[in-house]
Amino acid sequence: MIAPLRLSLDTAALVANWRALDRLSGTAACGAAVKADGYGLGARGVVERLATAGCRDFFVANWGEAAALADVATDRSIAISVLHGVRQDDMAFALHANARPVLSTVEQVRRWRNAGGGRCDVMVDTGMNRLGISPDDVAQGLLDGLGIDTLLSHLACADEDVPANARQRDRLNGLRGATTAKRLSLANSAAIALGPDYAFDLTRPGLALYGGVPRAALADVVRQVATPQAQILQRRTLRAGDSIGYNALYTASVPVEVAILNIGYADGYWRGFTNTGQARAGDAVLPVLGRVSMDLTAISVDAFPTLDEGDWVTLDFALPRAAAASGMSQYELLTGLGQRFDRIWQ
Ligand SMILES: *Cc1c(COP(=O)(O)O)cnc(C)c1O
Repeated sequence: MIAPLRLSLDTAALVANWRALDRLSGTAACGAAVKADGYGLGARGVVERLATAGCRDFFVANWGEAAALADVATDRSIAISVLHGVRQDDMAFALHANARPVLSTVEQVRRWRNAGGGRCDVMVDTGMNRLGISPDDVAQGLLDGLGIDTLLSHLACADEDVPANARQRDRLNGLRGATTAKRLSLANSAAIALGPDYAFDLTRPGLALYGGVPRAALADVVRQVATPQAQILQRRTLRAGDSIGYNALYTASVPVEVAILNIGYADGYWRGFTNTGQARAGDAVLPVLGRVSMDLTAISVDAFPTLDEGDWVTLDFALPRAAAASGMSQYELLTGLGQRFDRIWQ
């Protein structure tokens, strides 16, 4: 069956984004966060392409996500790290998986150690107060003798200029040499733009790989990767005074040529695009008219009146602008992309 929606994915842009972030990471290696199914793009497709480009460290949230990548990451130089660590329920799988946990609680460290688990990563909380053991736990010897590949921490405010960033960086720096860890890692996409003293040995961008711009310094570096395309189901003409869609949120003041698209908030084309989103056909700009509904969105085709039933249009989805238009975060725009798209890598 041919899907009625396409998510066009730009391999060259994805790889160029990773290479740019790798360059900005200086001497640190550059990994990739591919949790939440590669931020909605499809983790397999992302990992295949970035592994070919030279990326060796991938981050998922849980063991189900790791299992889904087991046959992609068969090269032994490729590491998959599971950011949520190991629950008791994960242990049977995790002990033999082709992936390692990022242990993030005292209990997880004990569980992994008592089971004779192999190499692991560890998350230390340097001030975000989300996941991680404390620097005090490290000082008291919690990690002694544990075979650690990478000691991680995560910044709370990397997309802002606040003193907390340097404080977190310095706390991680203070753990250098305190464990068996071969590498330290702190930076997500935004933190890569904070400068070389945030890169440590391994960076972990997600958003910017996929076209997101968390800091202005990355605006000229990052290229759009994901572009939704929808098909026209019906053409109609609004007369002056006619309104369209739920709650009649758009009323034509002059006659308007309209196309109804087969995309809506169930596809991650959020209601925030109501009267603010736009589509394109060639260079013609086709504004969204009225409320985005679950499966349908109306656009004006005055700028391209020959468009007809069955024709495809492209939704504007450059993430900084789409986030401003919709009121959603760039992260939500990506991870919300639904299951009705054919994901097509160009
Ligand atoms: C999601 C995540 C990242 C990637 O963050 P971006 O802001 O998308 O670059 C890095 N590290 C951890 C621990 C994460 O959870």
